[in-house]
Amino acid sequence: MIVPEGLFGTTGTAYMFDRRQLIRAAMAAPLACALPARALLTEARAATPPQDEATMVRFIAGLPKAEFHVHLEGTLEAEMKFALARRNGLKLPYADVAAMKRSYIYHDLPSFLKIYYDGMQVLLTEQDFYDLAYGYLGKAASQNVLYAEMFFDPQEHLKRGVPIEAVIGGITRARGDAAKRLGIESQLILCFMRDLSAESAMEALDAALPYKDQLVGVGLDSDEKGNPPEKFAEHFAKARAAGLHVTMHCDVNQENTLDHIRTALVDLKTERIDHGGNIVQSPELVALAKSLGIAFTVCPTFSGRVMEGGQPINALRKMLDAGLKVSVNSDDPAYMGSEYITQVLIRAQKDSALTPAELVRIERNAFGTAWIPPAQRDGYLARLTAYAESWGVAA
Ligand SMILES: [Zn+2]
Repeated sequence: MIVPEGLFGTTGTAYMFDRRQLIRAAMAAPLACALPARALLTEARAATPPQDEATMVRFIAGLPKAEFHVHLEGTLEAEMKFALARRNGLKLPYADVAAMKRSYIYHDLPSFLKIYYDGMQVLLTEQDFYDLAYGYLGKAASQNVLYAEMFFDPQEHLKRGVPIEAVIGGITRARGDAAKRLGIESQLILCFMRDLSAESAMEALDAALPYKDQLVGVGLDSDEKGNPPEKFAEHFAKARAAGLHVTMHCDVNQENTLDHIRTALVDLKTERIDHGGNIVQSPELVALAKSLGIAFTVCPTFSGRVMEGGQPINALRKMLDAGLKVSVNSDDPAYMGSEYITQVLIRAQKDSALTPAELVRIERNAFGTAWIPPAQRDGYLARLTAYAESWGVAA
C-alpha cells in the first residue's frame, strides 16, 4: 500500500473536478502506477523532435524534470483538506470540495496568501505532514520529476502550536518513502515568512536548526510589500553558517523590486532567486546575475507576467533569451487549477514558444543548479541527455 489509507482512496472521482485533461489522467491512475507510467513515457521514442501539439505534450510529459519552487503547503489539495479535517475532527466552512475550490479567488499576492494560510489549518500531526509531502511527491514522480527541493513555512505551523519535529519529521519520513517506493529524490527548504516579524523567523530557524540535517537550505516567501530581503540578513547569515544554502523570493511587480533583487544578489549573496522576472528590466542586474551564475526559479502560472509601461511582458521568454539560468516550476499548484509541473510546462511552451531544445535547456539549468552532490547531478544530466537524443533534440 503506497498511499495512506483514506486520503486518496476515493479520489478517482473527486479529482474529476480538475479542469485539465492530462492532470485528470495522472490523478485517476493509482499512484502505484507511477513507475510503469514513467517507463512507458521514456521508451520507444522515434528520434524525431516533436512537430505538433500532441507530440509536444508527450515530449514534455516524458522529459526528466527537477522542481525547486514548490510550496508544500501549496500542494494541499481540497480533497486532502477534507480528508485531514475529518481525521482531525475539524469542520471546514465549505459544503464540499467543489465549493471549496470555488472559493479560491484571488487577485494579488495578499488575497492569495489569505486563502493559502487559511487552508493550512488542517495540518496538525506528523502524519498530516507525511501525507501532504507524500501526496506531492507521488504526483511529481508520476510526471517524471526525478528530483525536487520543496519549500515549507514553519512559522505558520509553530504559531498554531504544531511542534517543529512533527512538521520536519513527517516530511522527512515521506521523502524517504517516496525515494524508496517511487524513485524520486527530494530535499527541504525552510522559508522565512517575510510579513511576520524578524523575531518570529529567528525562532523558527532556531527551532529547526537541531534538524538541519533534514534541511538543504533556507528561503524567503510571503508578502514582499514593506518586507525587503535585508530584514532577514541576520537569519541568512546564521543559516549559512550552519551549512545551509540560501535562496529568496523576489516576486514580480513589487515595490522597489529591482532594489530587492540587487540586495539579494549583492548584500545577501543569495544563490538563487525565486521568481525574479523583473530583472529583465535591468541589463546591469542581468549581467551581474549571469556573472554570479544565479539560478531563477520561474513559475509562469503566477509570476510569468512582468508589467512594463502598463503592459505585460513575457518574463520567461526574455530571461531565457538573456541567457539566465531559468527553471520552470509549479509554485502552489493546489491553488492554481491543480496544474503540476507537466501542465505548467505545457502551458509555458505555448505561451513562450519554447522549442524542444529550450525545454531540455530549462531542465539542464534545473539539474545543473540543484543542491546535490556531483555524482547525483551527473546521473540526472545523463538521463536528460539520453532522453533528448532519443527524440533527436540537440541539447
Ligand atoms: Zn513561491
